[in-house]
Amino acid sequence: MKKSKYITKVTDINKLYIEQVIENGDIVVDATMGNGYDTKYLAEKVGENGFVYSFDIQEEAIKSTKKKLEKENLSDRVKLILDGHENMDKYIEKEISCVVFNLGYLPRAKHRIITKPNTTIKAIEHSLKLLKPNGIVSIAIYTGHEGGPEEKNSIYDFVKELNQDEFSVMECGFINQVNCPPQLLLIEKKKED
Ligand code: SAH
Repeated sequence: MKKSKYITKVTDINKLYIEQVIENGDIVVDATMGNGYDTKYLAEKVGENGFVYSFDIQEEAIKSTKKKLEKENLSDRVKLILDGHENMDKYIEKEISCVVFNLGYLPRAKHRIITKPNTTIKAIEHSLKLLKPNGIVSIAIYTGHEGGPEEKNSIYDFVKELNQDEFSVMECGFINQVNCPPQLLLIEKKKED
């Protein structure tokens, strides 16, 4: 099988941006903890003076992420929260530089538990408020499961209406791939110059 070297996965493209945005000591959010790969990645990026808030509504997610963080000695800079991302405003008071969403269901777990349009949009709204100027929200959207296309449409309806003087919204995805490839949305809060 032939392989790409540069244009690989949208989650890799995502990291190209995130890496530029996150600075040592930043506060950031993993809105969908899942198996904790992004939480671990973010914890490494913010360094020992930074902090990561990570949300999931499944105990399994907390358990496997906790293990990952302990193994790498990163637990002190992460708060694992067993609650929906739509409630993030109850936990976070300071400005954040980055929020990562990886929507859909947790691979290998109960596929019935999926992110849903209303709560996802509420969480995006909170994220945009908490974001500092030039901060970024990234959203990986999956449409291959039941409810996925509806969620994608709701998110697009919402972000298309964001004022272009306040936010830059970009979409990124493979347009020649079969089987519903994930779509990436990147939103930057604009800064007064
Ligand atoms: N589709 C991705 C993984 C997504 S995991 C992939 O294939 O890599 C999505 C996670 O979001 C799941 O662990 C699920 O439990 C969680 N989730 C669902 N609703 C949520 C909510 N309201 N708040 C926070 N997390 C939620």
